[in-house]
Parts: sequence; structure tokens; C-alpha cells
Amino acid sequence: MKHKNLFILGLILITSCSNDVAEKMSDEAKATQTYNWRLVTAWPKNYPGLGMAPEKIAQLVEEMSNGQMKITVYGAGEQVPAFGVFEAVSSGSHQMGHSGSYFWKGKAPAAQFFSGVPFGFTSDEINAWVYKGGGLEIWREIYEPFNIHPMPAGNTGTQMFGWFNKEINSLEDIKGLKMRIPGVGGEVFKRAGGIPVTLPAGELFTALQTGVIDATEWVGPYNDLTFGFQQAAKYYYYPGWHEPGSMLELLINKEAWESLPKHLQVIIETAAKAVNQDTLAEYTARNNRALRELIDVHGVELRKLPNDVIAEFKVIANEIMEENAAKDPTVNKVYQSYKNFHEEVSAYHAISENAFIEARNN
Ligand code: CA
Repeated sequence: MKHKNLFILGLILITSCSNDVAEKMSDEAKATQTYNWRLVTAWPKNYPGLGMAPEKIAQLVEEMSNGQMKITVYGAGEQVPAFGVFEAVSSGSHQMGHSGSYFWKGKAPAAQFFSGVPFGFTSDEINAWVYKGGGLEIWREIYEPFNIHPMPAGNTGTQMFGWFNKEINSLEDIKGLKMRIPGVGGEVFKRAGGIPVTLPAGELFTALQTGVIDATEWVGPYNDLTFGFQQAAKYYYYPGWHEPGSMLELLINKEAWESLPKHLQVIIETAAKAVNQDTLAEYTARNNRALRELIDVHGVELRKLPNDVIAEFKVIANEIMEENAAKDPTVNKVYQSYKNFHEEVSAYHAISENAFIEARNN
């Protein structure tokens, strides 16, 4: 009996030792093996700002990892369509993706808060909410069932309302207007009487020029100039009430993420954070010069939406956000976090950023 027990004890020791050894060896192999990953995007290849953000992440990761990790970036349509990015990363056919979370409202309605919602956060505020206000934890919870680990990876700053061939003097002028406008902004546009459509970036110019759509929003002067919207529409409207500081996302397949050694995870997170900031700086630096060119060289007519139209959009936006939250507990969870943070940050920004900008401009 005694001998038998000793024998079993011995077996247990041998088995647990060999497990430890195997685990240690696999950790060592993970730490030194090379990784070749594929990243699909919702943007045209090498597109300024949006498309260059994942290219910069790939470059930083390769350099910081001393070549241990190489990420190949594909433009929209090269491997999967622009709106197939989420599914590609979720299924694991591609380890990484770069996009905007409001494209996935059909799959996860709560996702939209992490690119931006009408009258929501500016770029600075959404960074504060996501990094320091609990936003990132909720975002990861929402993407978990889809097998995706998300993180911020770029920001466009405040966008423009967009391109029109007729003037908008009242909500009447919105009625029946077919406009490319994604996310909650599109829902607001619909309730105001318009017809929102979602089209990928690469199809926008032709759709506007051929009259498939009457109007489009895209990003801001820096990006809009490169697409040549000035050749297809006369009026350029502001402010971008629908996208006050849109965040871009880096999507990582969860198993792929968990297969990485810790140091490569830290490198990816650091690269994404650096590019989140760098992209915003690029937009801030380039937008005004591009706007001057649109007006001075191309004769674009800049227009501000009438205040009462903006006020009506705001009423509708709040109604829709409340309704969406009441319908879906996940949306409600994000909405409550968003709303509390929005109230706090707006109160302080009223007497800091906003008061200062007003003082500077007057
Ligand atoms: Ca936009």
C-alpha cells in the first residue's frame, strides 16, 4: 500500500514537472519566435491620416520589436471589403484590423460610442473617457463576445458636416436628401427627414458626382480635398455636430492577442497610443491649409448650418440616444458611463477650454 502511494506521488511529481518544463519552453519559444501578422483596414491603401495610422503602427511595432513582429497592412478591398474588417478579425482570418467603431452598429449598437456620437466628446474628451474614465474597459467587454480586443488608434479631430449642392436654411431642406452619414448621426438625419446611407470611403466621390447621393460627409478639409469633393459639390457645411472628435480603432483577434508574449503586447499598445496622438496632430496641422485651398483655389463656398437647425439636430440626437439606451441594456451601460463623463468634462471645459477659446477669438 505504502509503495503504491509513493509510486502515485512520484507520477504526479513527474507529470507536474514535465508540464512546468513544457510551459516554460513554450513561453521561451513565444518570447523569441517571429510573428508575421496581417492587418486589414476600412480605408484606401496609404490614405492620408486614416490609412497611414495602421501603416505607422506596423512600422513602430517592427522597429520597437527589432523585427520580431512584422505586420502587413492591406487597404480596403485588397483582402476583405471595407465593411468586412470586423468579421475578418472576429473570425481570426486576419489578426488585426483598423476602422471606426460606428461601422459596426448592426453587430454591436453600443460600439458607436467609441468612434463618437452626435454632440458627444471632442478628441481630447474621448481620449480622457476611454483611457482614464472607464471607457476602454467597457469597450473591451462589448467586443469580447466577438473575440476582439480593441484599442484607440487615431483621431480625426472635429469633422465638417459635409458637402451639399443646395443650401440648408431649415430642416425642410433636409427632407428627402440622400446623404452618406454613418452612425447615430445617420439616425438623427433620418428622423429629421433625410435619407442616410453608409458607403465605404472609396465609393464616395463617384456616388456624389453621379447623383447616387445628394450630399456626403467624410472627415474634414485635409481628407476631403484629397477625394476631390470640391469638384462634385458647391457648399461645404460646418460644424460637424455628428462627429465632434471621432476615434479610430485597432482591432486584434483575441486568441492572436493572447498568443503574444507580454513585451509584444506592450509594444503594440504603446505604438497604438503614439499613433492615436500623432494622427490627431496631423489633422490639426493640415486642416486649415487644406480649407484655404478649397476656398481660395477651388471656389468652394463655406457655410455654417443655421443655429436653429443645429438645435433641432441636438434635440433629436438626445431623443435617439435615450431611446436606444432604453431598448438595449448594453447600450444603456455605455450610455450611462458616457453621459456621466460628458456632464463632468463639459462642466469643466466650459470654464477652461471653451472660455479660453472665446477669450482668444474676441
Ligand atoms: Ca465622418
